[in-house]
Amino acid sequence: MLDQSRIDALRAAELAPRSLFIDGAFRDAVHGKRRDVISPIDGRTLTSIAEGGAEDVDLAVAAARRAFDAGKWSRAAPAERKKVMHRIADLIERHALELAVLGVRDNGTEIAMALKAEPGSAAATFRYYAEAIDKVYGEIAPTAPNVLGLVHREPVGVVAAIVPWNFPMMIGAWKIAPALAAGNSVVLKPAEVASLSLLRLAELCAEAGLPAGVLNVVTGKGSVCGEALGLHMDVDVMAFTGSGAVGRRLLEYSARSNLKRCYLELGGKSPNIVFADAPDLDQAAKVSAYGIFRNSGQVCVAGSRLLVEETIHDEFVARVAAIATKMKVGDPLDLSTEAGAVTSEDQLSKNLEFVRRAKAEGGRLETGGTRILAETGGFYMQPTVFSGIEPAMHLAQEEVFGPVLGVMKFGDEAEAVRLANSTVFGLASAVWTSNLSRAHRMVRAVRAGVVHVNTYGGSDLTVPLGGVGQSGNGHDKSLHALDKFTELKTAWISL
Ligand code: NAD
Repeated sequence: MLDQSRIDALRAAELAPRSLFIDGAFRDAVHGKRRDVISPIDGRTLTSIAEGGAEDVDLAVAAARRAFDAGKWSRAAPAERKKVMHRIADLIERHALELAVLGVRDNGTEIAMALKAEPGSAAATFRYYAEAIDKVYGEIAPTAPNVLGLVHREPVGVVAAIVPWNFPMMIGAWKIAPALAAGNSVVLKPAEVASLSLLRLAELCAEAGLPAGVLNVVTGKGSVCGEALGLHMDVDVMAFTGSGAVGRRLLEYSARSNLKRCYLELGGKSPNIVFADAPDLDQAAKVSAYGIFRNSGQVCVAGSRLLVEETIHDEFVARVAAIATKMKVGDPLDLSTEAGAVTSEDQLSKNLEFVRRAKAEGGRLETGGTRILAETGGFYMQPTVFSGIEPAMHLAQEEVFGPVLGVMKFGDEAEAVRLANSTVFGLASAVWTSNLSRAHRMVRAVRAGVVHVNTYGGSDLTVPLGGVGQSGNGHDKSLHALDKFTELKTAWISL
């Protein structure tokens, strides 16, 4: 049973300086640079990590390629890879609390959520692809009888995975696990402000028997290490999760280098649509509030636009605002905290700028809007609700990636669809209604990778996660993720 004292003991642990993980060993950056790791919990320095450069990326890619060509992993029987991947999952589970606390000290997610979403989800992801990979078959084509057409599915080679600071282990595992299961080598670049748990994960992978060079972790600036990976001539696939701005750069890097495949999981401005006939408005209000404010809004699929039918608008907004006002925001390592810290001071400033602009543009502040707990030195923001948001306002169009909800009003189903589809994004969404036909109509009409019905945010590994429009391309999770990390090869054999 999880108790606060175990968390408190782990939070007090001194953290040794961390290095890059290349070719099965920790090593300093070639140029010896380091950066301080600032904890969003109290603004203090936790430890330092190596700040990699392009030379380190070269070393990591070379190690990955050597390991791939050597074949110890890439040509191992899938059943053998499966054993190692299960051992990785075992180790993640054994170290779950340690990993979760380490991650929270680094990025500020509330611990109750972090435990489930980070080591919990990462272990489940390694198990899912461990179990999947020895059940993936090639094809025999329905050719004429004088030929045999075989379709092989092969690993692609060297995969670069670049991940964001929210849920680094979960999102990291969504890339690493299917890539490794398929036999690839990986170079992982964590976000500058959330590297610690992924470095520890790499260590656990080595302990589980993953051969040296198959998984490498290069920490450092996106504009340096991320760019070097994007431009690298020996990286075959780029699997990215992050902002649209960086996603665009990756496409440019690909065009300027070797045309590497680029899969982009980007941001969203996801509509959460509540009809007056929602089955349970209390439940809808609660789930809607948690659907934006957990992890202080730093969730790609967060329901950041609340669309409410006009007949229940005022009452529903009052319910959501009341929940937001009461939410317990604060120390993310306290088990009772409902929304932890904003990951960096920079992000907190961006969130507050959105508040300023929403006010200036005529949005009505229902609750929140300010930094809180500044005396702790940490980065915290009160859950914020704006009503009266119009489609042309910034808050209706741009991703905040913070605890700021914009509410819009609609008159009928057609208007709800029009508003829902009025951004460049298409990541997540939800529809609350008791009308089955309307639910199915909305699932078809809303432009998004996922439409939740009478809930918000739930999913598991069995279903894909991906966006349409400027929310990206490609899918994490499910068997579809294997498509990103495998290549089809045809054998055409004359009989
Ligand atoms: P970000 O785009 O700033 O950074 C993401 C990663 O890209 C980091 O590792 C960063 O170092 C790296 N990077 C930065 N500049 C780079 C460059 N020039 N070249 C190569 N790499 C570079 O995103 P973030 O602020 O870390 O994360 C928040 C964003 O991620 C939000 O937009 C959020 O919606 C998105 N996100 C999407 C999903 C999804 O599944 N669709 C999931 C989580 C987060």
